[in-house]
Amino acid sequence: MTITSRNRPFSRAQIRELLEGKDDDWLFSRAALATELEFGNEVYLRAIVEFSNYCANQCHYCGLRAANRALGRYRLSTDSILGAVHRAAANDIGSVVLQSGDDSYFRADTIGWLIREIKARHDIAITLSLGERPADELGLWRYAGADRYLLKMETFDRTLFERCRPGADFDGRLKQLEWLAAMGYQVGSGIIVGLPGMTLDTLAADIEALCDLNLDMIACGPFIPHPQTPFAAAKSGDVLSCQRVTALLRLLNPGANIPATSALEVLKPGARLKSLRRGCNVVMPSFTPEDVNANYNIYPGKNGSNGDARARLHALRAALAAEGLVAASCRGDAKTRRYRR
Ligand code: SAM
Ligand code: SF4
Repeated sequence: MTITSRNRPFSRAQIRELLEGKDDDWLFSRAALATELEFGNEVYLRAIVEFSNYCANQCHYCGLRAANRALGRYRLSTDSILGAVHRAAANDIGSVVLQSGDDSYFRADTIGWLIREIKARHDIAITLSLGERPADELGLWRYAGADRYLLKMETFDRTLFERCRPGADFDGRLKQLEWLAAMGYQVGSGIIVGLPGMTLDTLAADIEALCDLNLDMIACGPFIPHPQTPFAAAKSGDVLSCQRVTALLRLLNPGANIPATSALEVLKPGARLKSLRRGCNVVMPSFTPEDVNANYNIYPGKNGSNGDARARLHALRAALAAEGLVAASCRGDAKTRRYRR
């Protein structure tokens, strides 16, 4: 992927002003219009199957970090993963996300086999979100049939990145995004809004960096402090700031898939739905089996709602319908490529 500096409708100063809330009515109504022009009243669903909460990394913000000994760890069997995907497909969902901590226990051939099995059994799009992996593994999975890969930079500010992700390689993570695009994946990245030390200037620069990557998916959720992490005492990200970020991203990336994250809902019930009226077009209900889903505890409240996946999906569809939105059962591919130069 070449990083380009495209002509943008907003200068850095204008982005900053909109992030400050100078004209929320204008920003949110334009983002709603742009979303409607691209996606009509359809909301794309992604069933997320969180198949392992083991992680080798130590991200200061995340409850799955290796040093968190208080967390009960789990890995799903391949049968259990296939069962969760089956339940998603049986419930008319056209797209799954397989996500985990950075867990090398799942070897490249196991993931490749899973992708092939899923594709043989279901007409469903597959997004992988497994963290950083070598190029040959990413290539193998693409060859096996994976459609998309989500790898958030979390911030494009190198100093902040290194402060939040000790031992992580900023350039290496950016390089992985380039490989993914070259391999033909639909590529997703994003940031955490309100990471400790993040300012409005950081956010404005991050928005520009995300646009320069010409992404197919852009995932930006608010930071939520986890008690078993070095950022336990930090302040949460702000829901409204996060909605301004996603609204700006919609205006700057009209055809990209932009999820309304569950972290929004944890901070403010109803915020996820509202974000779908402010530029977002994707929701990612968890299909992780109930006996372990509370242990995918990235932040407090994640996967905390009651009921099985089917009941939660039913409630989500009803809530969308009440807003005049339709939960689409299609693959939900991005509409970005025609914007590419
Ligand atoms: N391990 C893979 C990775 O880091 O790319 C994928 C799994 S990771 C749990 C998925 C996402 O969770 C991260 O990209 C990060 O944005 C988000 N996350 C982790 N901790 C968070 C927190 N405390 N608040 C909000 N989002 C968080
Ligand atoms: Fe691991 Fe991903 Fe959490 Fe970092 S964000 S600790 S890589 S699961």
